[in-house]
Amino acid sequence: MANKKQGQHCSFCGRPASDTVMLLQGLEAQICEQCAQQAYLIIKDELGLQDPQKKNGKKGEAPALELKKPQEIKDFLDQYVIGQDEAKRTLAVAVYNHYKRISQQVLADEVEIEKSNMILVGETGTGKTLLARTIARMLNVPFAIADATVLTEAGYVGEDVENILVRLLQAANYDVAAAEHGIVFIDEIDKIARKSDNPSITRDVSGEGVQQALLKLLEGTVSNVPPEGGRKHPEQKMIAINTKDILFIAGGAFDGIERIIAARKSTNIIGYGANSDQVLDKSNLLKYVAPADLKKYGLIPEIVGRMPIITHLDPLDADALKRILTEPKNALVKQFTKLFEMDGIALSFEEEALDFMVEKAIEFKLGARGLRSIVEAILNDAMFEMPSHHDTKTLVITRAYAEEKLSRNNKLAQ
Ligand code: ADP
Repeated sequence: MANKKQGQHCSFCGRPASDTVMLLQGLEAQICEQCAQQAYLIIKDELGLQDPQKKNGKKGEAPALELKKPQEIKDFLDQYVIGQDEAKRTLAVAVYNHYKRISQQVLADEVEIEKSNMILVGETGTGKTLLARTIARMLNVPFAIADATVLTEAGYVGEDVENILVRLLQAANYDVAAAEHGIVFIDEIDKIARKSDNPSITRDVSGEGVQQALLKLLEGTVSNVPPEGGRKHPEQKMIAINTKDILFIAGGAFDGIERIIAARKSTNIIGYGANSDQVLDKSNLLKYVAPADLKKYGLIPEIVGRMPIITHLDPLDADALKRILTEPKNALVKQFTKLFEMDGIALSFEEEALDFMVEKAIEFKLGARGLRSIVEAILNDAMFEMPSHHDTKTLVITRAYAEEKLSRNNKLAQ
């Protein structure tokens, strides 16, 4: 019934058949695809109907989110992420409020709750990405990571900011409604800080321009993205994505921001009189990070304004690194034990061997990120040889074994 015959036109808008994608034939009239869509929306609106697919959480509508309480969110994070209590609590509340806000809209409530994107400040390898990823996994929403350093303004060499949405759309399996409720993690946001102290740069393409482009997404906009990513070109079919309900979490190490924090704090303390009993924890100044510091660092005020929740991650000490090796649900020790188990080999680590791995991770300044390479380097020979040696069924990693293997297989120290 959708055949288009010459000379026909839509009985509602009058468009000739040649201008339509589809013309549905009735008894004495025809309707084009646009008018049909319009009619559907009007009927839905008038009857106050929900999209039939919505109730089932099928493709085409956002999946029904099970709203977890902040404490439950934190408990979930605790299973995967060691320490970082403040970040977890802040994130749990932010995520709880965010999805509460989204469900509120369904009820067409009159009080509009603004969305709160957030910034995680902490050294590299302390768990920023892991936190964001774990939250997305818990909520079962699409998740995409974007590296701020490769982003550029539209038209410059590099990746358009909108490609972030393409990645989210791909993570959502091209389900637009699901993508519109997803989470985007923007890594290394500190690297697009404007370098205002460099007077030779008149137009800072890498910094402020990208921040401006990013700002649009954060504020909430309908962005037309090419489904396959890459550059837009005129004939391409675009997909419209509304970013208003996407949660943006940015992370950055903000190297050197401690100096800015210290300067602000010491002025404050002097300002309040010398007898102030405020004691600064100088070993971890990041915990005082505030919006003013990020602005001073080079984020434009609008970006800081759109990411009002700021929290910090603690540096990982030896104790935390050791726990990371053994405690999380998918801890490295558990992963490798399982791998060996699949060959019928019982793998175990002596405490001293674990301590050695932690010492090396600290020495190589790789934080938790380095642990995997260290464990791999130590176990590589065994993983190569043991599957063919059917008589050896146990492997105990001692400190001496770990030292010997790492010194032989280590590519990290270079
Ligand atoms: P970044 O802060 O640079 O985003 P990541 O979250 O990517 O760091 O951490 C790198 C890896 O180190 C993670 O995949 C995880 O295995 C481990 N890791 C880092 N911090 C933690 C932590 N607090 N708890 C558990 N694992 C961690």
